[in-house]
Amino acid sequence: MGEPMILIVEDDAAIGSNLQRALDAAGYDTTLASTAADARSVPIEPALVLLDLGLPDGDGLDVAKDLLDRWPELRIIMMTARADEMDVVLGLDSGAIDYVTKPFRLAELLARVRAHTRALDDDAAPVYDDGDLIVDTGARRVILGGSEIVLRAKEFDLLVELISHSDKVVTREQLMTRVWDENWFGSTKTLDVHIAALRRRLGEQPGAPSRITALRGVGYRWDSVDRERPT
Ligand code: CA
Repeated sequence: MGEPMILIVEDDAAIGSNLQRALDAAGYDTTLASTAADARSVPIEPALVLLDLGLPDGDGLDVAKDLLDRWPELRIIMMTARADEMDVVLGLDSGAIDYVTKPFRLAELLARVRAHTRALDDDAAPVYDDGDLIVDTGARRVILGGSEIVLRAKEFDLLVELISHSDKVVTREQLMTRVWDENWFGSTKTLDVHIAALRRRLGEQPGAPSRITALRGVGYRWDSVDRERPT
């Protein structure tokens, strides 16, 4: 899958091309439609639609309704010029709709675009957050005590495997199969080495309480309950 495609529906050529340039530079694929008819004929579901309300061949609100009929989960940011338009937009019964009022700052619009497209990512990939440790599985990022920590690939995979079965034992065999290879054979010593490395990266001292409990000869368990830990 490529970058999210953003459909820009705007009949003002200068505004349309400015938006397109800014979004391209921010790493999004864009499609520009300058009429309601073009907007309706977009072949694939966009990740997000930036929709001008005043179009030469129709009303942006009707376009929004038609697009939502096709793709009920579609997110739309309305670009409204007048206060009365804003009232209409706010009156629409759809949680998918956001709006900006013209003239808007590009930075503000980009922030909203980021927020909406990030929300889409979040739907797909879970984020673990216990207040101290945040694991963003989609972005493969780990934040501990407010600072990002860098894990090796297998350490990250192991962490995700443990936290996605919080408070349950994951056996050594399951961990080897899921994190390493379904055809692993031989020693599972590498698992213990990676667990020790993971504990270090999580700032845990040897012998001190750990989020990861070892069950001798069985496997490991991630304890989500906040235990007494040195601060
Ligand atoms: Ca217009």
